[in-house]
Amino acid sequence: MEPQRSPLLEVKGNVELKRPLAKAASRLPLSGRRLKRGPDQMEEALEPEKKRTRGLGTRVSMTHPRAAALSSAPQTQGQTTVPKALRKPAPRCSTAVAPVLKTQKPGPVVPAQKPGTTAAPPMVGGKKPKRPAWDLKGQLCDLNAELKCCREKKQVLDQENQQLRDQLQEAQQQALALGAERRSLEEELTRVRAQAEQGQRELGNLSARVLELEERLGTQEGLVQELQKEQLRLQEERTGLAARLGEQERRLQTSEASLSDSQEEVASLRQEAAAREAVLAEREDRLHGLEMERRRLHNQLQELKGNIRVFCRVRPVLPGESTPSPGFLQFPSGPCGPSDPPTRLSLSRSDERRGTLSGAPAGPTRHDFSFDRVFPPGSGQDEVFEEISMLVQSALDGYPVCIFAYGQTGSGKTFTMEGGPGGDPQMEGLIPRALRHLFSVAQELSGQGWTYSFVASYVEIYNETVRDLLATGTRKGQGGECEIRRAGPGSEELTVTNARYVPVSCEREVEALLHLARQNRAVARTAQNERSSRSHSVFQLQISGEHAGRGLQCAAPLSLVDLAGSERLDPGLALGPGERERLRETQAINSSLSTLGLVIMALSNKESHVPYRNSKLTYLLQNSLGGSAKMLMFVNISPLEENVSESLNSLRFASKVNQCVIGTAQANKK
Ligand code: ADP
Ligand code: MG
Repeated sequence: MEPQRSPLLEVKGNVELKRPLAKAASRLPLSGRRLKRGPDQMEEALEPEKKRTRGLGTRVSMTHPRAAALSSAPQTQGQTTVPKALRKPAPRCSTAVAPVLKTQKPGPVVPAQKPGTTAAPPMVGGKKPKRPAWDLKGQLCDLNAELKCCREKKQVLDQENQQLRDQLQEAQQQALALGAERRSLEEELTRVRAQAEQGQRELGNLSARVLELEERLGTQEGLVQELQKEQLRLQEERTGLAARLGEQERRLQTSEASLSDSQEEVASLRQEAAAREAVLAEREDRLHGLEMERRRLHNQLQELKGNIRVFCRVRPVLPGESTPSPGFLQFPSGPCGPSDPPTRLSLSRSDERRGTLSGAPAGPTRHDFSFDRVFPPGSGQDEVFEEISMLVQSALDGYPVCIFAYGQTGSGKTFTMEGGPGGDPQMEGLIPRALRHLFSVAQELSGQGWTYSFVASYVEIYNETVRDLLATGTRKGQGGECEIRRAGPGSEELTVTNARYVPVSCEREVEALLHLARQNRAVARTAQNERSSRSHSVFQLQISGEHAGRGLQCAAPLSLVDLAGSERLDPGLALGPGERERLRETQAINSSLSTLGLVIMALSNKESHVPYRNSKLTYLLQNSLGGSAKMLMFVNISPLEENVSESLNSLRFASKVNQCVIGTAQANKK
């Protein structure tokens, strides 16, 4: 792009043109020395100057008006400086000087024509004739005339000189003024140049900026086009959306209409729900009342059945065992015939030592026993459990429940409590069945606002030492010493130190615990032969129930005890070291079993002192026996004739227990 010519540049041009003028001023002669030349020289000097000045005159007059006055000044030193105006001879002596200036030298002196003198010779050929030598007067007259003329000429020249001096002074002043002006103009020029350079730079910057802006403009234009396209697209989209919005609004209106219908419906439903809630609350109250009534009646029923009950269970003859003679064991029907559950058992025993008076062997002696229930060999585990499920239910209602299995080794105590081998569900014993029943009833009761928690422990008491059957890790099978202690100062609750108390909530967890207990027993068995049958196994479940809504709580232990074999030592056996050990074991067992009998008796007789502390077993179970507890004893007997003696012992012990009546049970309600 061609930059526009700035006015500043024009000024610069003008200034350049003026420069020769300033120089011209400086070339003015400073002294009037040369003006003293003769008139001829003056003329000679003036002529070329005149020509030159004329040539310059036109040029100078175009540039500066003031320079016109100086245009006639000589251009170089040495040239005569005679202004044009001065070249005109002064009017006064013009006539006298002119011929002198035009002639190179003065003509011959003509003697003055006065009387007595010769007149001036006449002009010959335009030239003054030469006076004769004798005409001294005429010559003198000529010389005087010439002198006078010279004096006049000098005077004129002096005047001219004075004028020139004045002019020179004026010119010098002008030169000074012009110099100042020139300097100011130069300064201005510098400034203007600087401005011009600045302008150039700015112009350059502006050009770059313009380029940049053009570039940006291009980009912006591209953007604008894109935006226009986007705008178009958005407009289309907007149109689509507006259509959809319209559709949605229509739908919304429909929905609002249906919403208001629904709201009305909801309001009526809420009213209905409130009414139902009121009914429900009333029913809940009634249900709770009924539940409490059920518990009361249930307990009454249990009490009517007896707070201590004894069931007799006869195991079947196992494969490989000799079948007993017919009539050895009999199960007479109840008063209502065979449909009645059996409660009686007869055992016939032939005593060879006794004889009749005639000397013939006496017939078998029949021993009749009556219990709360008798389970003949064919009775299944489910049948047995059905009888005790009501009792287990009492534990949930807050009554301590204790179930024992009593009998000689091999009579089926472990089978009854834990179940048969092989994990057959039909063979499951009382412990898994009782827990399953508890979990399911607790689940049902949760609908009525009850929440239950269960904590299990499993210990065995061997030779009056307590061992944890749920021990794991390094303590597993080691039989680490456990002690029975009160849970806290003044607390009725008992706890076994070093024993695990495991919260359980489902069957699987209980199965795992029973499995662990079996393993622990198996480990111990290697160390102590048949120890399991020589020890009491106590499975305890702490049941805690809470009805948060009504601020009710209940807690009771359910104890399931597989007692040690009740058999006595054969007194005829030789007392070797093993037998002596066995004797000690048996004495311990017998002692604890008889203590159990004594405790039950003491409770039955409401004696002031109940000897709980006489054995670890009764001490541990003291909260599950006594006044508020419900107790059930299974007496397990063998169907074999060879075990008749032990069976009789067991049945007699159980009968004694069965005669006991323990005071009215109180639920542990808070
Ligand atoms: P205990 O624990 O009194 O020593 P067990 O429970 O170990 O006796 O029983 C001894 C054997 O008799 C076991 O093999 C067991 O399976 C079996 N048994 C016990 N009672 C029954 C029963 N009611 N039905 C089937 N088998 C039984
Ligand atoms: Mg056993």
